[in-house]
Amino acid sequence: MLDWTEPKSDVEPARPDKFAGNATGLGEIERGGARVSVDDKRMINARADVNQLLPLKYRWAWEKYLAACNNHWMPTEVSMQADIALWKSRDGLTEDERRMLKRNLGFFAASESLVANNIVLAIYRHLTNPECRQYLLRQAFEEAIHTHTFQYIVESLGLDEGELFNMYREVPSITDKAAWALRHTQNLDDPDFRTGTPEADQAFLRDLVAFYVIFEGMWFYTGFAQILSLGRRNKMVGIAEQYQYILRDESIHLNFGIDVINQIRIENPHLWTQTFQDEVREMITEAAELEAAYGRDTMPRGFLGLNAALCEQYMHFIANRRCAQLGLQPVFADVENPFPWMSEAMDLKKEKNFFETRVIEYQSGGALSWD
Ligand code: MN
Ligand code: FE
Repeated sequence: MLDWTEPKSDVEPARPDKFAGNATGLGEIERGGARVSVDDKRMINARADVNQLLPLKYRWAWEKYLAACNNHWMPTEVSMQADIALWKSRDGLTEDERRMLKRNLGFFAASESLVANNIVLAIYRHLTNPECRQYLLRQAFEEAIHTHTFQYIVESLGLDEGELFNMYREVPSITDKAAWALRHTQNLDDPDFRTGTPEADQAFLRDLVAFYVIFEGMWFYTGFAQILSLGRRNKMVGIAEQYQYILRDESIHLNFGIDVINQIRIENPHLWTQTFQDEVREMITEAAELEAAYGRDTMPRGFLGLNAALCEQYMHFIANRRCAQLGLQPVFADVENPFPWMSEAMDLKKEKNFFETRVIEYQSGGALSWD
């Protein structure tokens, strides 16, 4: 069980009581406390009341919240008829394509929950900025929608729900990735964990790297490539469309995470030591290796336009790009993007102005007409 009670002052002598409470927003209300000054707002270890959204300090966070709300979608709005017909037909898909599809769905089905848990149980508490928290609340709902997508796919295609949702405990190449990332959530979920020391703040950064840069920013991307490559050949087009919506969401999640990490770096340059940079590069390298193993496992023979070797090359390309976004030296030799169609389908070139060039025409389902 999580203990959300505030530390006693004798447990945490380093910081005055009211600031310890301020960091989570769960401390005693300071009656007649002064109004928030923007200068006191910080990404971590803030001195400003985290329960007041305004005045805004980090406009990028607020803008990502607005962009995310603008992209609202529900999986059930996508027709699954063509997918159902193809899945039930005897030779619409090869055995290799079925294996890849099932393992891909299995990987995502549990991963969406792991990412959601990490937001709610590890990140939210320690990110002491209300506009970032506003985005996290939106992101948490999007992760619920993504999990809903896999429920809807299982139901539509009549898949074995236990096989799919339990896959992260049955297929070692998926377990390995999940377990690698989960260590970071576990570390921060410790009720005694507090930011405020260089060691703890670096642990928090590690969690952000593990989930935003690696889980959502690297591993999800080969998963998207696998499904979108089927879609490009007119196979499982309903799932491919849902994955494009998920990809559009994840592209903002990733960029939010990069902005958060870079902002923490700017505010706390003492955390971003050479040793720490090397460690982050090592994490990214390790993650690319785990992904290569997943590629070989899900595509032992490969199929039209896609195989494990190309996916590994793609991961190297993505890994170097993530390094560049964090101001780090690349971890792999310069490689070409083997899936240039992925950048058309989604981010890379477009991720900075993604919303001016939407992947798919989409009207927010929340728009009500009062006529
Ligand atoms: Mn997601
Ligand atoms: Fe996400």
